[in-house]
Amino acid sequence: MSTRKVVELPRRTVSTVSPLTGELLREFEQHSDDAVEKKIALAAATFRDYRKVPFAQRSAMMVRAAEILEKEKDAFGPMMTQEMGKTLKSAVQEAEKSALGCRYYAENAEKFLADEDAKTNATRSFVRYQPIGPVLAVMPWNFPFWQVFRFAAPALMAGNVGLLKHASNVPQCALAIEDIFRRAGFPEGAFQTLLIGSDRVNHVIADRRIAAVTLTGSVGAGRSVATAAGKEIKKCVLELGGSDPFIVMPSADLEKAAETAVQARVINNGQSCIAAKRFIVHQQVAEQFEKKFVARMASLKVGDPMDTATDVGPLATADVLKGLEGQVQKTIEMGARVLLGGKRLDRKGNFFAPTVLADIPKGSPAYEDELFGPVASIYFANDMSEAISIANDSIFGLGACAWTNDPKERDFFINEIESGLAFINGMVASDPRIPFGGVKHSGYGRELGHHGIHEFVNVKSVCIQEADAGKSRTE
Ligand code: NAP
Repeated sequence: MSTRKVVELPRRTVSTVSPLTGELLREFEQHSDDAVEKKIALAAATFRDYRKVPFAQRSAMMVRAAEILEKEKDAFGPMMTQEMGKTLKSAVQEAEKSALGCRYYAENAEKFLADEDAKTNATRSFVRYQPIGPVLAVMPWNFPFWQVFRFAAPALMAGNVGLLKHASNVPQCALAIEDIFRRAGFPEGAFQTLLIGSDRVNHVIADRRIAAVTLTGSVGAGRSVATAAGKEIKKCVLELGGSDPFIVMPSADLEKAAETAVQARVINNGQSCIAAKRFIVHQQVAEQFEKKFVARMASLKVGDPMDTATDVGPLATADVLKGLEGQVQKTIEMGARVLLGGKRLDRKGNFFAPTVLADIPKGSPAYEDELFGPVASIYFANDMSEAISIANDSIFGLGACAWTNDPKERDFFINEIESGLAFINGMVASDPRIPFGGVKHSGYGRELGHHGIHEFVNVKSVCIQEADAGKSRTE
């Protein structure tokens, strides 16, 4: 009898676990190494022809992708809600916004990537933008459609092909997006989903056929992907976390500011990189703002995200809930004052109570880290300059907004705030028409706008010297 032991390899799966009930709803086997190899080979082969497809044809396919999103938003919405807990209302809006992103690049890509004339000593000089190849996109669960489309629409319109490694808790969304591009008429291999865990990302980055990588996610994941990309000298774009400040000055419309502050904090159940997380309020209006803000946070309806009356659904995973709970507990232990909530809700599902904290000690998680959930931190300042010092005392620099009707304060804010987005009297939001990205640990590179489509292209400088022109000059 053989004494050889049979070693059981762990089953590698990605799964949908309901954030509402904790139930395992669907499970998918991860793609094997062999399947991943085949997908990379297909991506590389597809790129060789796809890069030559004229803009008009790419554009027609991208418009079809938009049409599918619009037509089937009521099927995609519940899928997102079921996988990661966002409210159904916002999930349907996300499908619509993804369609908008597709249309934006379908309409503008050719213009953005047109040759640009330059002046040199040559007879004719110009810059030509060309696609670079298969781009790996490592994406997060919080906007499971929008995050992917805002990468994929410019990448495919530029003539690149995409490989998506989506977050492990949203496999149905990942496969649905692949299917949308297939049905829109893009060639097999133009956009593929890799069902793999994060431990297999570096292996894909190291593959010579992969031209570049983009990651939207946490600082830790960004550091790991940037290290792997750096080792291979590959272009990398990082869209990482944020702890956005929301500054309120005495000249602001306080009612509107408080109303928007709540929206800005609890958007996506509090799990948005550009959610306002730190509310920095001028002393003169501190009491009034605090009262209005806390009352509104207290009146939010927490519950089933499929219910259209729900304002705040469950957090995406049990781990996100555990992480947030630990951060809040530690902040309170270090001396923060609890104005509202402060703990998980005593019910099934990943629910955390809408929470407001004040007197946040420096060094505490609420001061230093990103809080991904419906937890707001309030700070007080004596003027715009102090408010900005507090705002900039963060490793992050993604979005920021200031509520003021004083032109001098506005200018000061726009110039001094360390962030990639600066909004006045409005909530920070992504929009296909303007670039999106951050500074400091919020990452580098930009998505959206014309900047977004220029991230993954070869900027080729062309100089042509006509023999005749040279001759006539020397004559
Ligand atoms: P995450 O844990 O970093 O995961 C994001 C993606 O990275 C997932 O696909 C994940 O795969 C993968 N990943 C995790 N660790 C990795 C590693 N060491 N190497 C390679 N890949 C790795 O982030 P998340 O919890 O999904 O998303 C929340 C974070 O994303 C927040 O910090 C938020 O602020 C940020 N975010 C930023 C933006 C922006 O535009 N700046 C937008 C949205 C979200 P697995 O799921 O398999 O672990």
